[in-house]
Amino acid sequence: MTPFFQYTANDAQDHPVVNSLNDRLRHLSPEAREAARQFPLRIPPALAMRIPWEVDGPLTRQFLPAPEELNHAPGDAIDPLRERQAQGLPGMLIKYTGRALLKVTTECAVHCRFCFRRHLREEPLPRRLRDWEPALAAIARDHTLKEVIYSGGDPLTLSDRRLARLTARLAAIPHLTRLRIHTRMPVVTPERVQDSLLDWMKATRLTPLLVVHVNHADELHPSARAALEKLVEGGIPVLSQSVLLKGINDNLEALTRLYETLIDARVIPYYLHMLDPVAGAGHFQVSDAHALRLMAGLQERLPGYGVPRLVREEPGARSKTGLPSKP
Ligand code: SF4
Repeated sequence: MTPFFQYTANDAQDHPVVNSLNDRLRHLSPEAREAARQFPLRIPPALAMRIPWEVDGPLTRQFLPAPEELNHAPGDAIDPLRERQAQGLPGMLIKYTGRALLKVTTECAVHCRFCFRRHLREEPLPRRLRDWEPALAAIARDHTLKEVIYSGGDPLTLSDRRLARLTARLAAIPHLTRLRIHTRMPVVTPERVQDSLLDWMKATRLTPLLVVHVNHADELHPSARAALEKLVEGGIPVLSQSVLLKGINDNLEALTRLYETLIDARVIPYYLHMLDPVAGAGHFQVSDAHALRLMAGLQERLPGYGVPRLVREEPGARSKTGLPSKP
């Protein structure tokens, strides 16, 4: 096994799809191997088994290292949103009015090759509840804050026990009213959505919202749709966020299918993000003009509630920046 290969599937080594992935890995170019050394391939076995690795497609491109990752363009950055500068206390960012973002982990179940935090994975973050005390005290002091956002990495890689304990401390801060969780887990590891997750999310005084990251309808396997429906049936509002990615979802058919599938799974489309200019992901960049043409097409094809907001994140801005609605 190559050293960069983090995915482990001992109980699935003989599955034909896993063998096909192993075959793809054996034939990676030296450049792609170097890309995987810099940002390891990571994928849960159950997801690996759902992907046809022998053909290039929207899922292989999201998760397989590519030689283009070594081509850094001027303007590409290690920390494109300058989060390290914006971070007041370990693990806590206050970028937007009324909201505090807690990076509760750097771990993810899957490594997405376009991730804007792909170079920030070694960041030391609070782990134990007592490590969060400075951030909790700062949130308690700031009465303008209404909402806390769990981000990462992927917050749902943490156990329900840890998340419930941190949430209980936040719920004890009277001016907070909402808790938002940004996660890819219901799609890439649907089995993470268990009653124990719903139990603490429903029990908290805070209004919970879950924003699921999904970029292509092919990610919405029946098991993923079942996980999303379990959340919705449990009373958790579920919104979607996606990244517009060249070669993955930058055509009207792919986006229409993504949003139709999400709506039918009772997930409300929320944000379609322009790619952040992170070093190693420039080959996924879509031009503003093309993005706007796609949005015009979506507005014709989808009901109003099914059209996401096309946004870009600018370092230092007090909210996400919307792109104009017409090309
Ligand atoms: S799951 Fe989210 S944080 Fe993790 S690698 Fe993918 S995009 Fe980045």
